[in-house]
Amino acid sequence: MIVAMEQKATEEQIDNVIEKLVDLGFNVHRTTGVVQTILAGVGTPSSFEVADFEVMSGVEKAHRISSPYKLAGRDFRPEGTVIHFANGVTIGGKEVVMMAGPCSVESREQIFKSAELVKAAGAQFLRGGAFKPRSSPYSFQGMGLEALKLLREAGDKFGLLITSEVMEISQIDVMLPYIDVFQVGARNMQNFNLLRELGQVRKPILLKRGIAATIEELLLSAEYILAGGNYEVMLCERGIRTFETYTRNTMDISAIPVVQKLSHLPMIADPSHGTGRRDKVAPMARASVAAGCDGLIIEVHPNPDKAMSDGAQSLSPEQFAKLVPELRIIATAVGRTIA
Ligand code: PEP
Ligand code: MN
Repeated sequence: MIVAMEQKATEEQIDNVIEKLVDLGFNVHRTTGVVQTILAGVGTPSSFEVADFEVMSGVEKAHRISSPYKLAGRDFRPEGTVIHFANGVTIGGKEVVMMAGPCSVESREQIFKSAELVKAAGAQFLRGGAFKPRSSPYSFQGMGLEALKLLREAGDKFGLLITSEVMEISQIDVMLPYIDVFQVGARNMQNFNLLRELGQVRKPILLKRGIAATIEELLLSAEYILAGGNYEVMLCERGIRTFETYTRNTMDISAIPVVQKLSHLPMIADPSHGTGRRDKVAPMARASVAAGCDGLIIEVHPNPDKAMSDGAQSLSPEQFAKLVPELRIIATAVGRTIA
């Protein structure tokens, strides 16, 4: 149930609607947009009539939510979600944000070099895995807490926000002091216990699309986080598994406009995992900006051929520095900006 309040609705009128929703057995989520307050009632209440809400004072319109994702759907925030960071960076507004850095944090020298170079090329975020989900248990599993400390230090030194992957509930508290955005990886998109717990956190989440997940499943996973009251969720297209073998995954560029129509959540594109091949990253990054993504997350390594994970899809800092100005031109053409 969505109740859109009139622009001039008073707090008392809003409270009356909330009370009625609660009495019916709904959990109420409130969002105050630029234009109006929207109340979403979710859950399985006893029967009710939409018309009973429409006649309440201060209500502009009310309707049932037909999609399975109630809070992730665009109706909850028709004007779109904009996530604000302390340093003035926003995601979901006019700006297209650049997140870049190595797949994994490997050493102090490697992450500081990465931070310096991606910052110089125009990135706002430094990425780097501390806890790595690897297909083989014998592959490098990440430097853990030590990596988080290095990320924070490098981020603070070069003025970059930090994103890193959380793989399990026990890592949330460990990570909180060091990161600005929790990344949920493709392999954990349906780790519902983790998603529920991240709903209790008050830091933004970057939720990556599962390897074989439909867009509806991605939105339902986001719903788990939103239902906990954490509305700062970004979604990420990172390629899906198809029958194609010339690329590691098939980058579904069309997911960008599809999600943006269905949902208010910002949409990030990851052309690195999306293709798995260094020479395909720039074309897919350009296509993603043209398609309207709100940000890009790109693997960049000071020495990609020596990377401990995902070297084949990592750009050199020079390649990244060449790409960003190209993206700026495309961003301008579609009414966006890249800092
Ligand atoms: C990563 O960002 O390095 C990563 C493991 O991504 P994904 O979860 O999309 O595979
Ligand atoms: Mn990677």
